[in-house]
Amino acid sequence: MRCPKCRSEHIIIQAVTEVKEKRRKGLAYWIFIGWWWEILAWILFGIWKLLVVLFGKKTKVVSITRSVAVCQNCGTRWNVR
Ligand SMILES: [Zn+2]
Repeated sequence: MRCPKCRSEHIIIQAVTEVKEKRRKGLAYWIFIGWWWEILAWILFGIWKLLVVLFGKKTKVVSITRSVAVCQNCGTRWNVR
């Protein structure tokens, strides 16, 4: 691997953890789980569920770990898959 900026081979791969707030559930979630789970939840925990919806946090915090390459020569950072 080489630095795209200075062509140096002094590269260090770092694991970076990002914390993201997920505001919406994915489409797949609603297709496969969401609809029946929501109905079931409303039936079984109707009042509790209502309280959660009214007073609970709507955002979900998700941490994502990704790799970042750092050039030791010029300091350039870029994402690695
Ligand atoms: Zn570089």
